Amino acid sequence: MQAMGENGQLTPSQTSRILRELNHLPNKKLGQNFLVDSNIVRKSLELANVEEGDLVVEVGPGLGTLTGALLERGAKVFAVEIDPNLYEYLSKEFSENENLNLLNADAVKNPTGNLDVKKFPEFKVVANLPYSISTPWLDAVLSGENIPKSMTLMLQKEAASRFVAKEGSKDYSPISIFLGEAYCERAFHKVSASCFHPRPAVDSVLVSLEKKPNAFAFLPKTKALIRSVFSKRRKQLGSIAKSLPAEREILEEWLGKNPSLSPSARPETVPPDLWRALNSTVERHLQ
Ligand code: SAM
Repeated sequence: MQAMGENGQLTPSQTSRILRELNHLPNKKLGQNFLVDSNIVRKSLELANVEEGDLVVEVGPGLGTLTGALLERGAKVFAVEIDPNLYEYLSKEFSENENLNLLNADAVKNPTGNLDVKKFPEFKVVANLPYSISTPWLDAVLSGENIPKSMTLMLQKEAASRFVAKEGSKDYSPISIFLGEAYCERAFHKVSASCFHPRPAVDSVLVSLEKKPNAFAFLPKTKALIRSVFSKRRKQLGSIAKSLPAEREILEEWLGKNPSLSPSARPETVPPDLWRALNSTVERHLQ
């Protein structure tokens, strides 16, 4: 095992030393800003309420500081890391720990690593996400056969604001709708750049989301349609319908059947229940 800091996590100097020993320069494109603050690691585990025997998916374990803390709590960790050098390092460091299942792959294509979510539907996600994949990864995980019962995620502030935005706000987007209908927000904490090595140039937040008892999943076709509608977010719904010939019939039926929906409204003002009504219209058309 790696030489850990006071509370079991990697300190800034240990992180620098390991990177030096590995001759590894943090890769900016892969969002390699490693956590070096044990309080944030502890806070993540606390928010996720990690208990012995929990199945936890971790995206981008990096040098394993969060991974080590999850394993110490007795969780079974399914981690997916794209960087072959870090994967190799982690495989050696944690070779004796049977509770770690490590996959060297792209988390967008393998959003829950090696965890078979069909067989094990009760799982959590705890991750300091590489910021460039947060939306596609989230989309992929929400499209899975079973979705996590909670997600505790370190995110770029802008992405986090989009994820939890409500109708009427400029941040309201398709992912706010898909996520908001399936999860409720439990916590939203700003995290200082000094908690990472190297320091990121953007602001970070730690967000905790809990699956709603009646979590709603949109059909893939509705999701694609909502995305097309939002790609014209400055336009009015009536003219958007006319500009999408393949979807015009569905959109006009949706507009006609929902009196609270004005053809002059813009996508960002439409509340989630009306997007759900669009899902019902799409469903009828698929039958
Ligand atoms: N969990 C570590 C920590 O908290 O210190 C590292 C977090 S760092 C922000 C993001 C990690 O995600 C890096 O290890 C990076 O190599 C990995 N990563 C980047 N893109 C990825 C992808 N598409 N799939 C899987 N891992 C990825």
